[in-house]
Amino acid sequence: MTQRDLEDRIHDCGRRYVATIGDERPSLFNKSAWTGKLMDACMRNERFKVQLFRFIDVLPYLTTMDSFSRHLDEYFGSEESLPAVLKWGLRGLGWGGTLAKSAASAATRKNLELMARDFIVGATASETVARLHTLREQGFAFTVDVLGEATVSEREADAYVAGYRGLLDALGQAQRGWPALGGGSDTLDWGHAPRINVSVKPSALFSLADPADVEGSVHGMLVRLVPLYRAVVALGGFLCLDTEMRRFKNITFELYRRLRADPEFRAYPHLGLAVQAYLRESEQDADELLEWARRETLPISIRLVKGAYWDYETVLARQSGWPIPVYTVKAETDAAYERIAEKILRNHDACHLACASHNVRTVSAVAELAHTLDVPAHRYEFQALYGMAEPFRKALLKTTRRVRLYCPHGRLLPGMAYLIRRLLENTANESFLRQTFVEGVERDRLLESPRAVLARVAAEQSTRAPARESGGDAAFRNEAFPDWTDAAARQAYASALGAVRKAFGRTYALSIGGQEMGTGDREPSVNPANPDEVVGVVCQAGPDEVERAIAAARNAFPGWRDTSPSARAEMLRKAAAAARRRIFELAAWQTLEAGKQWTEAYLDVAEAIDFLEYYACEMRRLAAPRRLGAAPGETNEYFYESKGVAAVLAPWNFPLAISCGMSAAAIVAGNTVIYKPSRSTPVVGHTLHQIFQEAGLPAGVFNYVPGRSGVMGDALVRHPQVGLIAFTGSMETGLHILEVAGCTLPIQSAVKKVIAEMGGKNAIIVDDDADLDEAVPAVMRSAFGYQGQKCSACSRAIVVDAIYDRFLERLMDAARSVRIGPAEDPAYFMGPVIDRSAQERILGYIGLAQQDGRVAFASEVPKSKGFYVPLTIATEVPPDHPLAQEEIFGPVLCVLRARNFDQALAWANATRFALTGGLFSRTPSHIERCRRELRVGNLYINRGTTGAIVGRQPFGGVKMSGVGAKAGGPDYLLQFLDARVVTENTMRRGFVPFEELRSAGGTMHGQSDGGVRSGRDIQ
Ligand SMILES: Cc1cc2nc3c(=O)[nH]c(=O)nc-3n(C[C@H](O)[C@H](O)[C@H](O)COP(=O)(O)OP(=O)(O)OC[C@H]3O[C@@H](n4cnc5c(N)ncnc54)[C@H](O)[C@@H]3O)c2cc1C
Repeated sequence: MTQRDLEDRIHDCGRRYVATIGDERPSLFNKSAWTGKLMDACMRNERFKVQLFRFIDVLPYLTTMDSFSRHLDEYFGSEESLPAVLKWGLRGLGWGGTLAKSAASAATRKNLELMARDFIVGATASETVARLHTLREQGFAFTVDVLGEATVSEREADAYVAGYRGLLDALGQAQRGWPALGGGSDTLDWGHAPRINVSVKPSALFSLADPADVEGSVHGMLVRLVPLYRAVVALGGFLCLDTEMRRFKNITFELYRRLRADPEFRAYPHLGLAVQAYLRESEQDADELLEWARRETLPISIRLVKGAYWDYETVLARQSGWPIPVYTVKAETDAAYERIAEKILRNHDACHLACASHNVRTVSAVAELAHTLDVPAHRYEFQALYGMAEPFRKALLKTTRRVRLYCPHGRLLPGMAYLIRRLLENTANESFLRQTFVEGVERDRLLESPRAVLARVAAEQSTRAPARESGGDAAFRNEAFPDWTDAAARQAYASALGAVRKAFGRTYALSIGGQEMGTGDREPSVNPANPDEVVGVVCQAGPDEVERAIAAARNAFPGWRDTSPSARAEMLRKAAAAARRRIFELAAWQTLEAGKQWTEAYLDVAEAIDFLEYYACEMRRLAAPRRLGAAPGETNEYFYESKGVAAVLAPWNFPLAISCGMSAAAIVAGNTVIYKPSRSTPVVGHTLHQIFQEAGLPAGVFNYVPGRSGVMGDALVRHPQVGLIAFTGSMETGLHILEVAGCTLPIQSAVKKVIAEMGGKNAIIVDDDADLDEAVPAVMRSAFGYQGQKCSACSRAIVVDAIYDRFLERLMDAARSVRIGPAEDPAYFMGPVIDRSAQERILGYIGLAQQDGRVAFASEVPKSKGFYVPLTIATEVPPDHPLAQEEIFGPVLCVLRARNFDQALAWANATRFALTGGLFSRTPSHIERCRRELRVGNLYINRGTTGAIVGRQPFGGVKMSGVGAKAGGPDYLLQFLDARVVTENTMRRGFVPFEELRSAGGTMHGQSDGGVRSGRDIQ
């Protein structure tokens, strides 16, 4: 059959569907009912749509009528601005009285709950079974899915599986009374399909699933999936693995292969998985799955979908600097769907196809392809979502006879994420249902082949003017986040760890004025997970070396100062390129010397690259002198110049990023640097030296000078030839540096400039309507990520009373779930702290919590020599107690119970520090108040408090958290520069250059009658 004939048949088939659907509209688009009116309002008003979706999102938390009314007001305004649809059915009530208002709230709440019921088949097992029974009587098979997506702890994963077990029991009982669909005496629907069919979301099976740890994730999921599948098999049922976000896709596929090939289940064919056509890689995935099925001689089953996370994948990729993994033109997805469907149908002996779509064109194409390829009826079926497109599903049933409905089961609360996804999907411009039932797009156009649509799109694009190239420097772009779904990236990290370990134990000399300089005083730097492992032996500078380093930096200064800013910027770019080439290796050094987990370490290097490139761009921006004023007869030129010799005193917690940021800023601004790495991470510090060396930085511009703080710190800060000190570390050390630098010696020729990033005691406020699915993991990451050793870490969770118990319970469950061990193994969420003294100090604070408050949770720690401390959650600590006021710099979180939001805000502000802060709330007025009144350097709303990104979230605190402009922001470089102004009198005996007169005339035109004459007048 030719492609043309096939297209004709698809069109005929599509027309038949459309005729069968007739004039009936899905309830979603039926404007005589409330839901239809609501959808209509959404599609006409984007702002209303956003507000409504946000309101639906918070709805499950609005358990009292008071909070419901308050949110209704906040989201939609007063009566006048409340959209008519939300007042539906309330005519005549008036608004003013409390009674009327609460009646309105009650009605809206009821309507929204009813709408959720349209999509959710039942909240209890008996409700669900009864509804499924009705659907079966109508001729529909089902697959049932237990709602509950965000599993933040192992207890929640257990509860998710228990939900299935309860439901399976009920289904097992019920199926005895269910005759098979399609008639016949068989117990299988249509003679081949189990009557019980469940769909499972793998990510909900294991709270610690992580793409970096495929093996651990698959194992964690299998632990719960195997018994569940066993129960399904015992009932003669079918289990399908849903495919969710791309980050879990490969894990899901591996999970499928393991379960399918498990000797216990090999002979049982009823196991399926979903493939998403919108992913560019899905065609290859489908090939690999088919090949695997043949190789293993195991028939498989694929539910082919287009994909439900299009917006999420697109946004995530753009935020992370990844190529967009999904198609961006809708017809590309449609075309891919048809190609993959054809692939599967051609292999129908090895793979059963479930075509899941509400698109008449898609379904017609699959039906006609199957017909053309002589695929037996039992090798494919059609699926649709419960609650969507009722007329469509009825027409599908009439035509194809084998239709299965995907039926979500569960309570409203976990159902909201699902409901929002469905509403987004249906109201999207590209949605087939919207185009059919709302936009009334012409029938033949809807049935058009996606290939033809793509050809049209391509033709339209070719007639458009090409996009303009941006001139000059390429704009700054952040380095991409690591994508651990990529097996090559995981392999590269593992290999880098091996290579770095092989290089352990080397001796590192100082580098001064381009010369390697060994010293007799040496210190080992060890792996905090195993202090017996010596990462490197590092020469320590004494007073002589400090003097030599300062002399070398001074000598190099004039030449470097006079090097053009663009040449200096170019050096930074070269250094960035060198770091990028070695990104896995540089990260691996941090994992082994600083105890940083894979992602944390990789992002540290990425941030270092960002600093190099961002400051290079910034220097180019600042390099051009600015002309100030417009008075003729004079020129005023404003420009920047380097300051001199800078001492960079770096911390160990971001051993490359912060070292690199401070040094790069100083260097690109034309200063020369004496770099003292932290005593705990001198080998990582040496990698910075290597990067600058690879970039070809002239000798003496960057001097690597490790040494003891007691020997070097004050000597550098006090030295008359050091004009600039850039420091990041504790408040105590920062204040000491400020004091020492403030004492000016008689021989000193300049006042010292100190940039000091100091500590924090950062709070996250959890409001009574916070989304705990988001807040709990964010607090976990912010408080315990990299063992809480970040200045941005959350060390106080201030929780509003109404939600305190629920929050604490979920947080403790999440904490109980995590595992602690060496950072080099991605299975561990938390690793060792940096050294023994940190370990002892943190344990001291934990003792204080036991003494003065309550240790609500303290985890087990590995029995090893590593510097481990327990992940600790302290409660019942007064807000002014040292635990809630001092920087602990470890995995100790105080959870404070605040009476209300006002008190939470007051407590959040009540420390000497003001670095980062966070808020989880869905009350717009509270968000607004925090913006204004939570006075911290970096405020994060509805996300964690760590992970600031260069150029996007310039970072730095106020109060006792630091002095200086924000790192990675537009003001940072200015601190490393002196501004100068040169004013020249350009008038010679009354003659003023024509250009000046002209520009002055332009500026002054119309300002005063007696103003300076324009150049034209003089001519
Ligand atoms: C029974 C059943 C089970 C399902 N299970 C899953 C599952 O496990 N995992 C999952 O992710 N989804 C699942 N879905 C949802 C499915 O992926 C689709 O979101 C939904 O069916 C809409 O596709 P459609 O063919 O019905 O409608 P259409 O309107 O034809 O297609 C809409 C889809 O096109 C894609 N799209 C939209 N805009 C663009 C664009 N600009 N560029 C490229 N592509 C675009 C998106 O995938 C969007 O969902 C399931 C659907 C059904 C019916």
